Amino acid sequence: MIFTERHHLEVMRSIALVSEMAEIILETAKMLVLQEQLGEWDNLNHLLVCKDSNKAVVIDPFFSKYWLEVCEKHGFELEQVWLTHSHWDHAKGVDGLTDKQVWVHTLESERGWDGPSNQEWTHEANSFITQNVGELEFEIHTTPGHTPGHVTFIGEGVVVSGDCMFLGRCGRTDLFGGDVNAQRSSLLHLRSKLQEIPGDWIVLPGHQYALEDGSNPRWITVNQLLSDNQALQALDDDNAWNSLEFLAFDDNLAEKARRERARAQQD
Ligand SMILES: [Zn+2]
Repeated sequence: MIFTERHHLEVMRSIALVSEMAEIILETAKMLVLQEQLGEWDNLNHLLVCKDSNKAVVIDPFFSKYWLEVCEKHGFELEQVWLTHSHWDHAKGVDGLTDKQVWVHTLESERGWDGPSNQEWTHEANSFITQNVGELEFEIHTTPGHTPGHVTFIGEGVVVSGDCMFLGRCGRTDLFGGDVNAQRSSLLHLRSKLQEIPGDWIVLPGHQYALEDGSNPRWITVNQLLSDNQALQALDDDNAWNSLEFLAFDDNLAEKARRERARAQQD
């Protein structure tokens, strides 16, 4: 009886959590987009839902239980899990979702990722394939630089850019498996793609980081990003690119990456 009551309380609490927190930030004729900031590192998680089929994909889930409850509450069928890349803060929720298709790019193995993903993208840097979620169709672009197998998702009115491209800046390239030249190529590739798609599509980054003006939006339009993103603006000038101060940091993570590179050279 006590167990039942406690269980009931937990269920009530999680439902309250879901209804308070999971926010539909975009609804089109074909798709719902839910977004939530989860964990202590400002990570943004995204759920894309096909309205026709109710099939859904969750991108970079931090908490599996949270997204399973969102899907259960709304009657969505969670079919796929997509990882923009395999850093811990983007892949933490995968453990509880291994009965779904869990997709990651095969090149993430270069930084030591060995699962629990169960499906792999294999296409080369700065190319894309298309993949469906129900009736929704997305381009999966390989955009290495922050990690060896980072991918960016584009389609149906959204760009989900992970840690390749934040709203005002881009991801760092000094972690193990990162590559500053690959990052520049990937951003050039993405910029030309962004110039082709409608400017009112929205960009959904992997972290909610503040912009230069102090605002801290969770998404902005493609047009706004093309005009304001510091990394994109520096792409055409070597000096501007090399003086970006957010490509590398002097912190504990950089120190860890130095040790990992030394160990990889010994092996
Ligand atoms: Zn990352």
